[in-house]
Amino acid sequence: MRKKIAAGNWKMNLDYGQAKSLLQELIQLKDQFNPETEIIICPSAPYLAVFAELLNDHKWLKLGAQNCFHENEGAFTGEISPLQLKSLELEYCIVGHSERRDRFNEDYDFLSKKTRALLAHGINPIFCCGEQLQVRDSNVYKEFVMKQIEDSLFKLRPEELAKVVIAYEPIWAIGTGKTASCEQAQEIHSLIRARISKDFGDKVANEISIIYGGSCKAENAKELFAQKDIDGGLIGGASLNANGFCEISNSF
Ligand code: PEP
Repeated sequence: MRKKIAAGNWKMNLDYGQAKSLLQELIQLKDQFNPETEIIICPSAPYLAVFAELLNDHKWLKLGAQNCFHENEGAFTGEISPLQLKSLELEYCIVGHSERRDRFNEDYDFLSKKTRALLAHGINPIFCCGEQLQVRDSNVYKEFVMKQIEDSLFKLRPEELAKVVIAYEPIWAIGTGKTASCEQAQEIHSLIRARISKDFGDKVANEISIIYGGSCKAENAKELFAQKDIDGGLIGGASLNANGFCEISNSF
């Protein structure tokens, strides 16, 4: 059975003290989190090493990075390698968030390299895809999202693809308060699963978790997560509140 996931993307928010307080709040809420849901937090990179130590006794709470480079080491000032993430025993890393695609010009080839590099080190990529508002309105949004996935992920081996978490995040819904309707989200999630099934078979399609992101919060998570092909959420703003994030994780 595929994993149900609640992943918090803290983005470039919170100073060190605030981030540690939020972590402590989450740890204290342990008994209220559904043990059958994979709970992941992705804080800013400078906090990862300390968080990894603090979470040593709390393995139920998984740690992820927000980004990485694809090389293992070398003259790449400012970058973080999958090897370095692995040395912290991180289990997840976001790849291709729309903010990185748009603001840092990350293209399909670069994202494909990062995905491969993460998988080579046993780190599960949380691969983001999703269309801008003008693409949604132009009605080619389905083809657009499928191409993002095909271009970056379809050269993986089936057993590699099964380890990727796909996050469908319509850009017009990210941080805007405008959530995709359940029907809009389910439509894309089921298309992604069907597309994977066509090239990789039913086993991989049924194993892979496809999560939704875009103004997902406690008020709308239940309805979204009730959809057949939505296996959880990548949560931005709402993950900065421990109680709210916990409520979202209990919305299956
Ligand atoms: C995100 O950035 O991945 C995201 C989904 O943000 P928000 O929940 O704030 O829309």
